[in-house]
Amino acid sequence: MRFRTRTAEVIINLDGCVAPDCGFACVKACRLYGRNILKIEDGKPALAVSPQEAVRIDNECLACEIYCQWYGSGVIEVRVPMEVV
Ligand code: SF4
Repeated sequence: MRFRTRTAEVIINLDGCVAPDCGFACVKACRLYGRNILKIEDGKPALAVSPQEAVRIDNECLACEIYCQWYGSGVIEVRVPMEVV
């Protein structure tokens, strides 16, 4: 699954997701450091808000990606396009 934020794109490869073995680290990280836009649905992480709302409220803290690397299977990628000026 993927969704956009104000300046980035978050991609979660659900095929490689090891939930619940990771304790849903990304969802917890979003509650702790982000804006609580992730939820658990059918045993996997899912958007808790509409894609439009995610663009508006996501604070781009990157905690989901880091926590998935630390406690999960490293299947979250936050892509931030870099512009060379
Ligand atoms: S932290 Fe990674 S492995 Fe765990 S639920 Fe989130 S995406 Fe899946």
